[in-house]
Amino acid sequence: MKLTLKYIYKALCKNKKLAYATVALGITMSVGMVSVFNFVSASGEVEKPVLEIEKAVAYNAPVKGEAEVSKQAVTTEEIKNVASAPAKDAISLQHASAVAMNVNRDLDAPVLCHQLCIDGKAIANFESREDAINILDNIKASFAKEDENTEVLSVNIVENTKVLAKAVSVYDFDGYADAEQVEEYIRLGTNEKREYTVVSGDTISEIAKRHSMKEDDLYAANPELHTQKYLQIDQKLNLIVPVPLLSVETVERIIYKEAIPYKVTEEPTSKLYKGEKSIKIRGVKGQIQRVADVQFINGIKVDKTIVSENVVSEPKTQVLWVGTKQAPPRIGTGKFSKPTSRSYRVTSPFGVRRRTGMHKGIDMAMPTGSPVLAADGGRVVFSGYKGTYGRLVVINHGGRLKSYYAHCSKLLVKSGDKVFKGQKIALSGNTGRSTGPHLHFEIRLGNTPVNPRKYVGI
Ligand SMILES: [Zn+2]
Repeated sequence: MKLTLKYIYKALCKNKKLAYATVALGITMSVGMVSVFNFVSASGEVEKPVLEIEKAVAYNAPVKGEAEVSKQAVTTEEIKNVASAPAKDAISLQHASAVAMNVNRDLDAPVLCHQLCIDGKAIANFESREDAINILDNIKASFAKEDENTEVLSVNIVENTKVLAKAVSVYDFDGYADAEQVEEYIRLGTNEKREYTVVSGDTISEIAKRHSMKEDDLYAANPELHTQKYLQIDQKLNLIVPVPLLSVETVERIIYKEAIPYKVTEEPTSKLYKGEKSIKIRGVKGQIQRVADVQFINGIKVDKTIVSENVVSEPKTQVLWVGTKQAPPRIGTGKFSKPTSRSYRVTSPFGVRRRTGMHKGIDMAMPTGSPVLAADGGRVVFSGYKGTYGRLVVINHGGRLKSYYAHCSKLLVKSGDKVFKGQKIALSGNTGRSTGPHLHFEIRLGNTPVNPRKYVGI
């Protein structure tokens, strides 16, 4: 027998009337057992009480007050009357409990519980109704966060939630639930706990694979991963994907700003070669402020209705120059031009002895980002990073001549491209072995560096 004296004592102490009725009424008569007395919705309104006559057992007379305690038997008909009457007019809950308490013959008193039910399914029994209501309020509150740009218009639980006052047979009563545990159970949909501690070298995809999870599920179980750039060693990851028992619907009025993209128009120019573009007037994005009612379920956006919008600033159209000039042939002309259109200062001429050997080219100091131009037409034979040269372009011009453009910040051509004389092939920089922003320009005949000044006035 599950019944313990503790529960009887608890039940009796909680309710003096019960105690009185139970003690005073002693011997009982057999008619029926009341198991559910009163349905009360989570919103607090009292609903029609419901009675279940489970089986024929003994019970005692109803009592409206201690003075009225009598040995008068209650019939099944009377219990049904209690069931059909509006709760507030019906016998008080305590009184109903008293009936339940006296249903027993041998002190097997039912225990009064406040049962939290979700969509008709019993979740847990609490000692007080407030315990159950608090859990629902906590879960609702966790999804209703306001800030200066967010006003919460409504918070509702989608499921049908009720807190029922219920007399549970002592044989079925396992004790009252712990509110904190139940709240977590409702949030996660399970009591199971599985965690993983991140170790050095872990990646999200590997962790997911090792635990037979989809990557998306690992993210769902650990929403913080969305905003985290790297996994931290010793970080605890939840391996259980939450399936909350409750869906909290919130509607929030949110004020936010969005950029309005600018239009782009083009104007032809004979100053640029075909395929070349440059900005005549830089475009500026506009800004719009919107007010929207956004519907979330458990924090996930499901719908949005724009309430109002107001253009803060209009976008400004971008105008591009588009080249129309016929490009020169992409072959070597045999005559070199300067490898930049920007002004420069020669900081190191060709052939100077250095700790590292002879200087193979000319160093031209210029700000990082200056245009680097092909000194003659030809074919790009290298475009990439190469040791002390840093970012480097090498063009083969034919006639055993090649030119080198080193220490670039950005490369604009790739190996195999054909380029014409004067074409922008890179932006100057300070990569590789370089002590300041400059272009190292080098010309080779065969594979031997020669003085560029023999070919072009630098
Ligand atoms: Zn150099």
